[in-house]
Amino acid sequence: MDMGLTAEDHDVRERARELAENHLFPHEEELDINECLPEETEAAIRQAVRGLQLNAINHKKEYGGQEMTIVQQCIVNEEVGKATNALWGRVWQPPVCLQFGSPEQIEKYLIPACRGELRTSFCTSEPTAGSDAGGVKTSASLDGNHYVINGEKCFASNAEFAGLNLLTTVVDGDPSKPTLFLIDKGTPGFNVRRLPRFAQRSGHGHPELDIEDMRVPATQILGDVGKGYELTKDWFVEARLAIAARSIGMAVRASELALDWAQEREQFGQTIIHFQAVEFMLAEMATDIMAGKSMLYRVAQEIDGGLDRKTAHAKASAIKLFCSEAGFRVVDKAVQIFGGRGTMCENPVERLTRDVRLERIWEGTSEIQKMVIGGQVRKRGLDMYTGWD
Ligand SMILES: Cc1cc2nc3c(=O)[nH]c(=O)nc-3n(C[C@H](O)[C@H](O)[C@H](O)COP(=O)(O)OP(=O)(O)OC[C@H]3O[C@@H](n4cnc5c(N)ncnc54)[C@H](O)[C@@H]3O)c2cc1C
Repeated sequence: MDMGLTAEDHDVRERARELAENHLFPHEEELDINECLPEETEAAIRQAVRGLQLNAINHKKEYGGQEMTIVQQCIVNEEVGKATNALWGRVWQPPVCLQFGSPEQIEKYLIPACRGELRTSFCTSEPTAGSDAGGVKTSASLDGNHYVINGEKCFASNAEFAGLNLLTTVVDGDPSKPTLFLIDKGTPGFNVRRLPRFAQRSGHGHPELDIEDMRVPATQILGDVGKGYELTKDWFVEARLAIAARSIGMAVRASELALDWAQEREQFGQTIIHFQAVEFMLAEMATDIMAGKSMLYRVAQEIDGGLDRKTAHAKASAIKLFCSEAGFRVVDKAVQIFGGRGTMCENPVERLTRDVRLERIWEGTSEIQKMVIGGQVRKRGLDMYTGWD
């Protein structure tokens, strides 16, 4: 399909493909088995990311990022999303809200993060605040020129080793004052309570945290008191498009592997692709990918063309919903086409099963995306989703 990609877009795709195929795929099984990679391998991957100019694709060149268009960011996420065990996470994309920091914060955090010298975590979820992220209870109270923070966090990806943790709080326990703090590694009171095991073996954890009487200078606030939610709005659009793009990447890889297998595997005296049941699965897989890819890149082009933030947010929900659900359907069918071999951990489609399952949950579950879309339809009508100019 001709999406009118530019020569630069094609070059981005070639570089992302090279990174995935030559620097991420070769380490998938080792990571799956050992649940970590040797530091030399991690360093070599970081070097490859920098060498191929794929670091901080979502940040401006003046901060050391690649300042890619949204279409190009989707291309990169689609290609690296094909790598299992969340190896796409090695292609760092520092939280976009860091660009709203003070000049000192940009110097101390954003620039090293863009270079890949500072890992970050984003700690919002709490035991009683999951889908209802507005229910955050971690509270910050002013004491002189410091804030004292208390609370609990969970699912805080990378927080066990990140150099910088973005912590969502409410000042004085007041839900109308959501506020983001920048927490340095090793700050007393920032404690990892437990590192639960998860289905996806990515080499980093999603710890539960106890925040106990943690004293933080007021200068560690990102933006301003009460601006926490506003600052994360752009992040939601970016993260949801990234999830959609990765889901498509996973679906493409799984369907290519399933097609090869269907053309090779013989049962009842013929290759299984000749059974209509198998051919129909491949047909549904191709159609799901075509539909997901079309909506993703179409809206990415609209955002690059200046689509307003509110509409971008509303459309990103529909894209995340469709692509993550479609990606799941496709990968599941790939497993079915492989039969028993589709459940062997050495088969990428098995590992993709574990990866793609998550995409329907984080950054807003499918049900939450439906709430966003339903709310928009109720307030603004269907046209945003169904109208064509
Ligand atoms: C591996 C992993 C990594 C993660 N990393 C991070 C991270 O780095 N930082 C971070 O802050 N969080 C992170 N999360 C948390 C993630 O964002 C949440 O898991 C997600 O938002 C859902 O919240 P929950 O798990 O508490 O589910 P719940 O909110 O308890 O939802 C349970 C079920 O109820 C449904 N539900 C809830 N409310 C409604 C409603 N109003 N209407 C209809 N259905 C509803 C949900 O859709 C879901 O099916 C991570 C999660 C995982 C699994």
